[in-house]
Amino acid sequence: MIKEILKGLVITSKHLGRKPTTIEYPEVKKEMPPRFRGRHHLRRDENGLELCIGCHMCAVVCPADAIYLEAEDNTEEERHSGGERFARVYQIDYLRCIFCGFCVDACPTDALVMGKEYEMSSYQRKDFVYRKEILLDPLEQKTEVKAFYHNNGDTDNSSDSKLNEEKLKPKEGK
Ligand code: SF4
Ligand code: SF4
Repeated sequence: MIKEILKGLVITSKHLGRKPTTIEYPEVKKEMPPRFRGRHHLRRDENGLELCIGCHMCAVVCPADAIYLEAEDNTEEERHSGGERFARVYQIDYLRCIFCGFCVDACPTDALVMGKEYEMSSYQRKDFVYRKEILLDPLEQKTEVKAFYHNNGDTDNSSDSKLNEEKLKPKEGK
């Protein structure tokens, strides 16, 4: 019995001078690794237009059927995105999402990214359906992204591989 207590004290004393591995959450937030997949963001281009062109690729590849969107044509009077269409309705159900990132990989315009946010708990089921109003970055938050439609719809192999190369690079805030 005494032997076990002494053994325990020796182990405890070994850790006395060490830096703690725990943090004082929620006062102190953990810095997430660069490739962490948190909640999604819909980004804007350098002109403030939505990068999402409502192509449905993200919804098609989603294995959990978590993405719902309705696309609409842009008009001369009302332009939301740089492409022909935009997502009038866009929502992600985080009760279904498994944070696999397939949707981000499938997005041809780099509109959809996953951020670092992980604090998403709620007592209400409805709070887990994030609508476009929440997902879309604010107007002042612009991103310089080489999307295919910036090149008059040029989708030849060279621009595709360039886009893929850029996607593979770790990005700040992604
Ligand atoms: S991260 Fe995966 S599960 Fe979640 S919305 Fe994207 S494709 Fe669907
Ligand atoms: S987020 Fe990307 S993949 Fe999804 S509809 Fe918009 S442009 Fe298409």
